[in-house]
Amino acid sequence: MTSLAQCQALDQQDPLRGLRDLFDLPPGVIYLDGNSLGVMPKATPARVADCVTREWGTDLIQSWNKAGWFNRPQSVGDKIARLIGASAGQVVATDSTSINLFKVLSAALNIAAEDAPRRKRIVSERSNFPTDLYIAEALCKERGFELVLVEPEEIAASLTADVALLMLTHVNYRTGAMHDMAAVTAAAHAEGILTVWDLAHSAGAVPVDLTAAKADFAVGCGYKYLNGGPGAPAFVWVNPMHTDRFWQPLAGWWGHATPFAFTPDYQPAAGITRYMCGTQPMISLTALDCGLDATLAAEPLGGMAALRAKSLALTDLFIQLVEDRCAGHGLGLATPSAHGQRGSQVCLTREYGPHTPPLRGSLPPEGAATALGRPGGGDSGAYAIVQALIARGVVGDFRAGDGQRHKDILRFGFTPLYIGFEDVWSAVEHLRQVLETNEWQRPEFNQKHAVT
Ligand SMILES: *Cc1c(COP(=O)(O)O)cnc(C)c1O
Repeated sequence: MTSLAQCQALDQQDPLRGLRDLFDLPPGVIYLDGNSLGVMPKATPARVADCVTREWGTDLIQSWNKAGWFNRPQSVGDKIARLIGASAGQVVATDSTSINLFKVLSAALNIAAEDAPRRKRIVSERSNFPTDLYIAEALCKERGFELVLVEPEEIAASLTADVALLMLTHVNYRTGAMHDMAAVTAAAHAEGILTVWDLAHSAGAVPVDLTAAKADFAVGCGYKYLNGGPGAPAFVWVNPMHTDRFWQPLAGWWGHATPFAFTPDYQPAAGITRYMCGTQPMISLTALDCGLDATLAAEPLGGMAALRAKSLALTDLFIQLVEDRCAGHGLGLATPSAHGQRGSQVCLTREYGPHTPPLRGSLPPEGAATALGRPGGGDSGAYAIVQALIARGVVGDFRAGDGQRHKDILRFGFTPLYIGFEDVWSAVEHLRQVLETNEWQRPEFNQKHAVT
């Protein structure tokens, strides 16, 4: 069993430990939710203030040229490209993940309609992030396609001659399970199917090589592992062999070849710039730029490979300590233990059972089905355990199960830029105490908030 002293020694030996100083972590907080909203880099407030007071306040409209505002989606995109195996000029930081997904799905369907008009299906995973499924469903309705949802083990068999597009999230948001992007893309291509990858839980978290994988389209998120701040612009990448084939449907003036010619007709810009729509948020792009600088500060120390090695060491340690120190409390592991199938988060399941004495008033009569249809009814306690941990300064989050295939989940993200081995040890010690003392059963931890 790894001891606290051994964890402290691991921190001492960690070549990446200095990167934590680039971030403004509130004292006493062990932040295991960087997969949902990354931590603020120390450089961000001053850079954003400069954007507001000097670039906007003083230089006003001149900043479009003088401060590089107009090209900021591309210059920020070039930094993202370094993290995902893309070249400079192939990525723009723009809009939200949901909107970018709409643009690439639509463009991909146009390509499929021309190259393979009889293919009328999009395949995705049932446990994909809901917004991805909603966007695909709406587009399918509009374009006469069918959205087919499968379980991960059914993907290979679902790649049939009527499928135009395979849309997957590289690292699953609920379980942290990771696909082999190169292998899945090759399997799709072998059947004439295009691939769309969502890198929301991958960019800045795990090594990604879109070029080597020969992926077709990719989108990703700026506010998770890229630490760009709440609602940060997302990004979009398109394989250069597809970029200029079609317009994307949100053909606004920022995607025009010559926006300041103000011509009445649309002429798409060459390359990824045509994936832009309208005027972009410069203050938010500035904050995202700071987040990327903090991530790219790892480049001289080994870059994504070094971050990945540390991330795996952190998640291995967390899994081992939970198994050793929190046994007998109904916890299970939803995240694959194989390194090649794991992102940078660990998800624990929680079963309702004898170890979860019912909260007064929360248990339906014996044998009655609950709304979620859980056997025996009641609550897994996962939400309350997460709330009790947050009250102790250990910030993770909760994702509800479906009462069937998916159990309630306690989700812990490990951002190797600012999380250390002692943090992992302390987080598990808090979890152990919350479980052993039944602290999580207090009423204040059982009030549901809007954002879980
Ligand atoms: C976080 C996340 C999103 C978020 O989309 P927004 O448009 O930023 O709200 C989308 N897809 C996946 C897979 C995510 O994890």
